Amino acid sequence: MTSVAAPGEKKQAKAGERPGPGRYICIDCGREIRLDRVDEDLVRCPTCACETYNCFPMTHIRPDIRTPEDVVNPPERRTYKK
Ligand SMILES: [Zn+2]
Repeated sequence: MTSVAAPGEKKQAKAGERPGPGRYICIDCGREIRLDRVDEDLVRCPTCACETYNCFPMTHIRPDIRTPEDVVNPPERRTYKK
């Protein structure tokens, strides 16, 4: 796997961190994990148990979340399909 991204262009997060709301793509299998809350732990990849993800932070989280309080306690939590 080649990694040619310039420093600072690509962010990664590891399992056990709380990187905040966003999309996290497993670097091994490409599985996408979504975190909706700032206090949600990033877990190991359910598919391959990899601990490292590429980060794609949400530019806008959700239209119904406008305040920091809403980020911590979202009005309604969207369930990721199982
Ligand atoms: Zn994986």
